[in-house]
Amino acid sequence: MDRRSFIKLTAVSGTTAALASCGNPDHQLVRFVPDEDIVPGQAVWKPGVCPLCPAGCGLTVRVMDADAEVVRDGKSGVVQILAAKKLEGNPNHPINRGGLCARGQAAIQVTYHPDRITQPLKRTGNRGDGTYAAVTWDAAIAEAVGSLNKLASGGNARSLAFLGRPDNGHRRALIAEFLARFGAPAAVTYELFADDVLRRANGMSFGSAQLPTFDLANTRYLLSFGADFLGTWNAPVSHARAYGEMRQGQPGVRGHFVQIESRVSQTGASADEWVAIRPGTEGALALGIAHVIMRDKLQSAGAAAGAAIPGWSQGLPDYAPEQVEKLTGVSAAKVERLAREFAQRSPAAAAVGGAALAHTNALFTAVAVNALNALAGTVGKPGGLVFTPQMDVGAAAKIGARPSAAMSMQQWAAALLAGGEPAAQALLIDGVNPVFTAPRAWKVRDALARVPFIVSFGSFLDETSILADLILPDHSFLESWSESLPESGSAAGVVSAAPPVMKPLHQTRATPDVLLEVARQLEKPLELPWQTFDEMLAMTMTPLPAMTEGVDAWTDAQEKGGWWGELPTAIRLKPDSTAIRLKPDSTVESGFSRIQPESGFGRIQPEFDGDPAQYPFHFLPYPSNQFLDGSLAHLPWLQEMPDPLTSAMWSSWIEINPQTAARLGIVQGDLVEVTSQHGTLRSAAYVSPGIAPDVIAMPAGQGHATFTRYASGRGENPVGLLAPMTEETTGAVAWAATRVKIARVGGPDGRLILFAGGMREHVEHGR
Ligand code: SF4
Repeated sequence: MDRRSFIKLTAVSGTTAALASCGNPDHQLVRFVPDEDIVPGQAVWKPGVCPLCPAGCGLTVRVMDADAEVVRDGKSGVVQILAAKKLEGNPNHPINRGGLCARGQAAIQVTYHPDRITQPLKRTGNRGDGTYAAVTWDAAIAEAVGSLNKLASGGNARSLAFLGRPDNGHRRALIAEFLARFGAPAAVTYELFADDVLRRANGMSFGSAQLPTFDLANTRYLLSFGADFLGTWNAPVSHARAYGEMRQGQPGVRGHFVQIESRVSQTGASADEWVAIRPGTEGALALGIAHVIMRDKLQSAGAAAGAAIPGWSQGLPDYAPEQVEKLTGVSAAKVERLAREFAQRSPAAAAVGGAALAHTNALFTAVAVNALNALAGTVGKPGGLVFTPQMDVGAAAKIGARPSAAMSMQQWAAALLAGGEPAAQALLIDGVNPVFTAPRAWKVRDALARVPFIVSFGSFLDETSILADLILPDHSFLESWSESLPESGSAAGVVSAAPPVMKPLHQTRATPDVLLEVARQLEKPLELPWQTFDEMLAMTMTPLPAMTEGVDAWTDAQEKGGWWGELPTAIRLKPDSTAIRLKPDSTVESGFSRIQPESGFGRIQPEFDGDPAQYPFHFLPYPSNQFLDGSLAHLPWLQEMPDPLTSAMWSSWIEINPQTAARLGIVQGDLVEVTSQHGTLRSAAYVSPGIAPDVIAMPAGQGHATFTRYASGRGENPVGLLAPMTEETTGAVAWAATRVKIARVGGPDGRLILFAGGMREHVEHGR
């Protein structure tokens, strides 16, 4: 059997059970990259950068001659091109060291997706009905330029708005410079599962307002408070490799791992011990552990002496184990044991993320867990946490003053709905879908309806881009210069960057180059310092220290897929003085700095939306292993990938504890209705022992109204239930702060598609 037949057979037999329900013909599952045996040729491997999350993993892309379907002037045809066939992890890249997660493997489908927008589109129907006509790039850019000229000449430059995803790479710096020179406010960025609270806490605790990197290879005891570092949080491929070294890297040495959360995550399933905890009380548990360590003098002398958590200098009297048991549901004996293990099995580290930081008291929780790292004495030390040095792109690219603090998405939408200033007259949208991912109470869709002219740079129609008047589709990451500045995952500085690996399939253009073109064509050109995006990359990367003797860093980076090493001080990001309100304490050996009393922790007690008598369950949406917040639900390989814990595919489900299910008369697959004060949805029940009895969980990602043939109309979106609760100091969505009720409304109706269930059925029926 040749390889292609094997792939086809695997794809078909592995999904037979699912296909009947998913409604997609099987040939689409394999015919999604150009067939490799049509055109013989020699494969070459080129570097790339995975674009699907901010981790910035390096790729090596297999490229060879192929027949590909392309669209030109509205007509499709087959041409022979040099085409990307397969993505693998770049073995030399310091973040992923050859690894690639399933999402990264599926990224190739972005390029060949049959529903990609293939050329500029102009709206011809009513806004939101998806009726567009193809236009030329000249006409499309002229329309965008005309709109911006009108704002500038009328003295309304501040009426230009920009919505994007939060990141700190070159693309975002270019956008910031474009907006600043035009006179517009800073871009509004949004991500449902953002880590803003942890950045703020790390700024307060350690002077680095960024995500941490854990030196897991040398960690001997790891406490994780909700951080799904092997699945969806932070830099999962980097941490998965290091975790493997922690467990098996040295003969006879196996680091111990305890995961604390109210629903077993993919990471929790790998732990030696899983500790169930009452939602929102993780910080209290961390301080209970700290209390025991200080009470019994288990910490290294002087460690964390300066930490100014309320009650710290008195030994945290409010967090005695018995008190912590009442708050968290974790027994006093377990608090004592965890404290002893954490203090004595050195080097130890504590991670916090995910649902633990999705509450109104998240800043308190994060600072409390940071204090544990200080007590362990491992901040900046082997086995502890470090911070990946960050390039200051603004300094490296020698660009001028950029817009100051941006509004949050919630503030921006509220201001627009209230008729506040600046009222957006034109809006540019890049890589974000807030209509799908923002709490409904923010009314983002209503706010967008008030903007007279919207331009999207999207490659697909989704719930937000379908509201655009003009769509200027971006190249795929394989067709353009790609880059990322990884925030974590390496002890050295890293800039992931790579040239295009193939020619564009369609009449798309790279968004940074489109912005540069618009800037040039304005009546008053913005005179940005670069003609093209790669010129900007060359400007920042050429002066970097050479990685290979005799080869300049920029030339080398194009061969290697990026640059890594010691970042020169002049272009290293300095601590964010707005995020850090603390005074360094030179007496502290651990690196944990003094937190000024005025810095505040936000709330110490979590708040929840909904009366417990009426809404007795905590609702826990979580980032899907396949789709994260839903931005990857259009990729059929990911729809087809069984969820690692439930084996569910092509569907949504609601997780419920067996005891709770029995009490409510719910069995596996039953149709259940979940209701909060803000919405209701129906989906299939998945009965799981890995969830606390008072918690109802549901993966995010499905429930799209508009997002290609594969995701549209499939499953339910848990965001529709969320209360508009936020962590008050950062404005981050408190996505685990909503209470719900649940009821059985029917028997199994085929919505729950389980790979394992399907296989069992096959065995039982002798197939
Ligand atoms: S962790 Fe993120 S960047 Fe790395 S392979 Fe997965 S999706 Fe891509």
